[in-house]
Amino acid sequence: MSIVTQVNLLKDRRTKIIATLGPASSEPEQIRQLIKAGVNVFRQNMSHGDHAYHKETYARVRQIAEELKKPVGILADLCGPKIRTGKFKKDSIELKNNETVIVTTRDVEGKPGLIPSQYASLANDVELGDHILLADGTLELEVDKTEGTEITCTVIYGGKLGNHKGINLPGVNVSAPSLTEKDIADAKLAIELGVDFLALSFVRTAEDINDLRKLMNENGSDARIIAKIEKPEALENASAILDAADGIMVARGDLGVELNPEQVPVAQHQLIDLAREKFKPVIVATQMLESMIEMARPTRAEVTDVAYAVTLGTDAIMLSGETAVGAFPVDAVKMMDKISRQTESYLWSHNKYGAKISDNASTTAIPIWDALANSMAQLAQDLKVRAVVVISQSGMSAATMSSARPAAPVVAITNRADVCRKMAMLWSVIPVHSEDAGKINPNELTRKVIIDEGLALTGEKVLLIRGFHADNAMNIPSVTVLTI
Ligand code: ATP
Ligand code: MG
Ligand code: MG
Repeated sequence: MSIVTQVNLLKDRRTKIIATLGPASSEPEQIRQLIKAGVNVFRQNMSHGDHAYHKETYARVRQIAEELKKPVGILADLCGPKIRTGKFKKDSIELKNNETVIVTTRDVEGKPGLIPSQYASLANDVELGDHILLADGTLELEVDKTEGTEITCTVIYGGKLGNHKGINLPGVNVSAPSLTEKDIADAKLAIELGVDFLALSFVRTAEDINDLRKLMNENGSDARIIAKIEKPEALENASAILDAADGIMVARGDLGVELNPEQVPVAQHQLIDLAREKFKPVIVATQMLESMIEMARPTRAEVTDVAYAVTLGTDAIMLSGETAVGAFPVDAVKMMDKISRQTESYLWSHNKYGAKISDNASTTAIPIWDALANSMAQLAQDLKVRAVVVISQSGMSAATMSSARPAAPVVAITNRADVCRKMAMLWSVIPVHSEDAGKINPNELTRKVIIDEGLALTGEKVLLIRGFHADNAMNIPSVTVLTI
């Protein structure tokens, strides 16, 4: 047995890091430090902050990423029908076990014993005996009585409750639509700004994704849609949702409330496998390094959770409160970076990446994309190539190659800066923006990029994948072994 040391870490991290912007990470210097520490995509959570705030932080990220010459993506996260607490007079209250509290849908400030919520139908949606969970399910109330706008409850599990914390009603059919009025206004802002990804919360069916896609098409956006999987219905419909969306997020905070917490790891595992099968990116999110909101060092259990997600081969891991409101945002990113590299280096050196030799014994062919990805990963492993290069128009071929989780990094060359930012979320993909893509000879372009990126020495080999097209008639894929 040997410990992976600094000298045998991989040069490029395979798993991508997403960081949520918030009061702890909005200043230009903080954004700069976060990008330098390894953030690949920033998340703007539309549940918090107003439009002026999101406009400003959006512009800052774009400008600083440009200065640092890094392809950094921006994801706008739409709230969906998430029910939240309102604002408290002193920003938070303490709930004591067994005390009686009132949840009101009136537009008032909260205080001890009174919890406001903006969701008008709350009192209609719940009944006597229902349970109301608060703040990612950490606190719990039981409904005793509902009367107009007031819901009288007993505190089952108490604790501190802050402003704008989530409210979940497990097993209750929430009547709100998936794309709320606020979401439509927020989506329009995000489209106007030019975000790379739009995430939708509390998706229930593929229809929810189609509704958002329609709105985006009407407003001229080709941002990628990420479906947040956080309801049991979404798990049941995961395959259809993934077909309609461009990627998924395992939103473990709300998922762990809507399901039982012990069901979350298996759901996470299944969703990662499903996303890879469909060549679409998957994000593991929520509480990954939660204790780093307050402490400089994570718990060993959190470190193991990040390493587990990396081992399962997720495309990206996400920080929420750790970077939005935490005391150690940059340290949290550095910690994720270190855990990923350490785990990946172990997996790499023990041949855990790359081809599973196909055992297609049936008389029918498997889809050409799957076949090519399998063969590419096998060749990469057998020839010990230094990189797998794709010249990509839309990012589709990069996503396909990445899904096979090859041992060598995937270098994706495109002449579109926006495609570069969208590929920033894909496992192991190094996006390279080059005006020469599509103009000069692909072999020549590949050699130039590989040398520039310092990925191979003269005499070493890379694979060049090209000719992929979504249209069958134009799809003439090829794999070339190129010696640098
Ligand atoms: P979601 O269900 O979409 O994850 P969330 O409320 O859990 O919503 P996170 O982005 O996960 O939000 O962030 C965790 C916590 O950090 C939030 O509960 C909130 O208290 C705080 N937070 C996040 N972003 C902001 C912001 N821009 N301004 C103020 N507080 C924020
Ligand atoms: Mg959520
Ligand atoms: Mg959250």
